[in-house]
Amino acid sequence: MKATSAGCVTGQRDANEREQIDVVALGIVTAAILLFVGTGSEVGPRVVNSFLQRGPGPDHFLLNAFLLNIAIIIFGWSRYRQLCAELQARKAAEKQARHLAETDPLTGFLNRRSFNACVDQMIATAAHNGQAVVLAMIDLDNFKQVNDYNGHNIGDLLLRECSGRLAAGLPPRALVGRIGGDEFAAAFPFDPNRDAVITEVASTLVETIGENARIDAIIIEVTASIGLARSDFPGIDNERPDAHALLEMADIAMYHAKRHGRNRFYWFEPQMADEMRFRKELEQGIRRGIGKGEFVPYYEQQIDLQTGELTGFEMLARWDSPHFGIVSPEIFIPVAEDIGAIGALSESVIRQALEDAKTWAPHLTLAVNISPLQLRDPWFSQKLLRLLVEASFPPQRLEIEITESCLHQNVAQARSLIASLKNQGIKVSLDDFGTGYSSLAQLRSLPFDRIKIDRSFVSSLIDNQDSAAIVHAIAMLGKGLNLPITAEGIESDGVLNYLLQYGQIKGQGYLYGRPRPAGELGEWMEELGNAARPELNAVRKAFRDAAGNSAAEAGDETGGTHEPRKRAGG
Ligand code: C2E
Ligand code: MG
Ligand code: MG
Repeated sequence: MKATSAGCVTGQRDANEREQIDVVALGIVTAAILLFVGTGSEVGPRVVNSFLQRGPGPDHFLLNAFLLNIAIIIFGWSRYRQLCAELQARKAAEKQARHLAETDPLTGFLNRRSFNACVDQMIATAAHNGQAVVLAMIDLDNFKQVNDYNGHNIGDLLLRECSGRLAAGLPPRALVGRIGGDEFAAAFPFDPNRDAVITEVASTLVETIGENARIDAIIIEVTASIGLARSDFPGIDNERPDAHALLEMADIAMYHAKRHGRNRFYWFEPQMADEMRFRKELEQGIRRGIGKGEFVPYYEQQIDLQTGELTGFEMLARWDSPHFGIVSPEIFIPVAEDIGAIGALSESVIRQALEDAKTWAPHLTLAVNISPLQLRDPWFSQKLLRLLVEASFPPQRLEIEITESCLHQNVAQARSLIASLKNQGIKVSLDDFGTGYSSLAQLRSLPFDRIKIDRSFVSSLIDNQDSAAIVHAIAMLGKGLNLPITAEGIESDGVLNYLLQYGQIKGQGYLYGRPRPAGELGEWMEELGNAARPELNAVRKAFRDAAGNSAAEAGDETGGTHEPRKRAGG
């Protein structure tokens, strides 16, 4: 039997109570019978003799005592019955209350507190029998989104469906608990010499929970990440782990599974604890850093390849962390997404970028990246509009970049967001195109203003024929669909010259310099005549030209400026 109810905690208590009631009842009955026998043996014969007129009748006092004894037995018995009934009712109510306190009402599984107690008991019994206990932490992937898209009712039904699959995939003696919203834990004893059974169980669980669920005619994609920890191996502090420590270890292994692609399981290993500590530091640092303005915009030039002119900048966020130094978005964006901080982080860097962009010449555009999670935020376009209004920045100069890989998750949502952004006059480009498997039909149905070819194809197109073929196909697709193209990741003159065959396309990449903070753009923009006060720039430029001091500079790796067309011309 699978111990999904709180039986292991309450069983012993129930037996003790029952014993106590039995002893009291036995005492009452024995005392009453002894009294009855004592007085009866004295009174009985005298009553009989007096009836037969063979002697004097019973002593009045004894007779009264005897009658009183009978009354006591009758009263005692009925009171005893009453008490039993009351006790039973109370016990049933207590049992119900305990059940509610120790189990999760939605799934009927143990809750965290009772699960821990049961696992501790299981570990002790297993050790006594020469066995060990494995604890599995099971977390549903992206469950929050299911709730957000479909409502909590569907979310609850999905949890029930998954709990059924979970219980069905476990061995008969397993304990199962619901530890958090979409987090379950299971534990069962095993023979340490035959631990292959655990990987079998874990693979089955990943497979069965990962099958699409049909809930109220909605097909829901669901997967689970699982972490495993065993009681016969040393824990985080090198001690034999108890239930609490096992849960912590399995939790760490489960997060490891999440970070390595989800829908899989991992065994706990001690170095994972260090990763976890690092991750916790990152999380806390990100939360603190947003408030302290440590997330700052860097800018990468976007160039019209034919004319070599600057057309705008893509804003790329950087974390200027006092603890870690300058951190790449590839590290902090996924963590900020996981801890629900991406909205606040993005808002903070976009706000700064809008202020920076106001100092640029009015024809220059500002492109910003958004996370797939923001794509799902129904208030995203309103929030963006508020930022634009606060900064008095014209929406026509703003471009939102949506990565291709997030489109397939919810095309309908993407479509409505793109439409609402475009209604406000904001442009929308499809970023990292070529990496996300969009279909042509999708591409046609989503009203993008631009396609950006992923840098992995562009930077390798000289040495790799496949990359060149993909770049060519995307350039032709852009022509066919009348969608302007931007090539990202231009690192060499060779790539630039190759791309010039496609006519009017935009480009960006390290050839034009690395992304730089706003403070380093100002002077350079003035030199190029792209600051917000062109009349001033024109005077300065004329002055410099007259002094024979060319504005064009040799580029350097650390973000030196380039005059693009010159480089393009070789
Ligand atoms: P992305 O939007 O595709 O940005 C281009 C990335 O390519 C940038 O990396 C940029 O530094 C890098 N890059 C530019 N030119 C070259 C080149 O010639 N060669 C090579 N090898 N790389 C080049 P970065 O800044 O590390 O950004 C990485 C990704 O992080 C971005 O990819 C974008 O998806 C994301 N990201 C950046 N800022 C934000 C943000 O504020 N919000 C969100 N949601 N995502 C952001
Ligand atoms: Mg981008
Ligand atoms: Mg990109």
